[in-house]
Amino acid sequence: MTDTANSVAMHSYLIVDDEPFMHKMITRVLSTLGAEKIASCEDGQSALDHLKGSDVDVILCDLNMPGMDGIEFLRHLTQTGYKGAVMLVSGEDPRVLDTARNLAEAHDLKVLGALSKPITPDKVKPLLDILAEERAGKRAYGPVDALDVEELRAGIDGDELEVFYQPKVAVTDKRVVGVESLVRWRHKERGLVPPVAFIPVAEEHGLIDALTDAVYAKAAAQGGKWLAQGREIKVAVNISVDSLTRLDLPEFIVATGRENGLDPAHIVLEITESRLMEDIKSPLEILTRLRLKGVSLSIDDFGTGHSSMEQLKRIPFTELKIDRAFVYGACRDTSARAILTSSVTLAKALGMTTVAEGVEDQDDWDLVAELGVDVVQGYFIAKPMPADEFDAWLAAWPAG
Ligand code: C2E
Ligand code: MG
Ligand code: MG
Repeated sequence: MTDTANSVAMHSYLIVDDEPFMHKMITRVLSTLGAEKIASCEDGQSALDHLKGSDVDVILCDLNMPGMDGIEFLRHLTQTGYKGAVMLVSGEDPRVLDTARNLAEAHDLKVLGALSKPITPDKVKPLLDILAEERAGKRAYGPVDALDVEELRAGIDGDELEVFYQPKVAVTDKRVVGVESLVRWRHKERGLVPPVAFIPVAEEHGLIDALTDAVYAKAAAQGGKWLAQGREIKVAVNISVDSLTRLDLPEFIVATGRENGLDPAHIVLEITESRLMEDIKSPLEILTRLRLKGVSLSIDDFGTGHSSMEQLKRIPFTELKIDRAFVYGACRDTSARAILTSSVTLAKALGMTTVAEGVEDQDDWDLVAELGVDVVQGYFIAKPMPADEFDAWLAAWPAG
């Protein structure tokens, strides 16, 4: 049995839908995929009652039901402390379905996806695959506790930061045109700690410059090695907005690059604006000088936070990285697709390179290729890897 088939049979399912016909149809689909434990309820209240007495792993919930509707049901479900997963099923306008999904996620429910009726095995299977992967521990890390600042300071001083590299490939021929350098902390007790757990701590406590320097030094050295091997790979490093007050940043970036044999044309700085740039003068000066020196500037997570149109107008970005919220699953999400499409059009009108991050499957790839995105980064190509693993991956990658 495959991982997915195993996991499908192992889980128990609850269908919540007012139409008996839908119970039959969804039961048939689930059974085809290997499910054995399937129950159904005709409204939200009876589903809540059912949950008191039985373990359920996946709820397939209709939105439009008389009495308690699906949205109300999700709110009550959160209050029960339900830990399983949810799939939303509806005949409503896809945008209503997308909004319901966002709402469920805001309630901290684990949402596998939103499905428009009619339900077919082809639509349900990818969602059950997510659950199977999660069970097999293949998904990204879950929530992690934030770390203590002194511990982080010691970690940076003790050279415990490692840099992983994730390929960026050209959509036309899948050639590896660049890498994004992503920091991890090899912690003595906690193991490999993801950046979400310590970047905010570094930003808040004045450690971000030390962190950036450590990451950039490693990435530049690695980029220099690739170049010496004849590989034309641009190295991208993330720069926090908090570092854009440091007026000597352009000199540091260019000089450290050159010491490692990298000229500015091989360097990309990805800027995420999670918080507003308060005083725009220093960031503007620093970013404009970096551009003048020939360093590429990427606006990261475009479409979220403050990574917005206003910044595009005032800062000379060369690359637009569309946030994965608008890429992954965009072919099934009308609003995400519209935002993705218009971001690509916007970037092209401004003469910028477009990068889609979070491409996880063939459907995502096909959509971004159809829209004319230039470069793709995502699990569909490869996850971030340590440098030696990256080299082995690259050697095996058909497009080199
Ligand atoms: P980011 O710059 O937007 O980096 C992309 C993130 O998306 C990475 O997460 C990457 O592993 C993840 N990712 C890539 N492809 C996929 C995909 O197909 N599916 C999914 N679900 N995720 C994908 P990571 O490495 O955990 O980094 C998270 C964030 O931490 C980065 O987001 C960046 O904002 C920040 N970060 C990482 N390294 C540094 C650093 O050296 N300095 C600063 N200031 N921030 C950093
Ligand atoms: Mg980035
Ligand atoms: Mg990003």
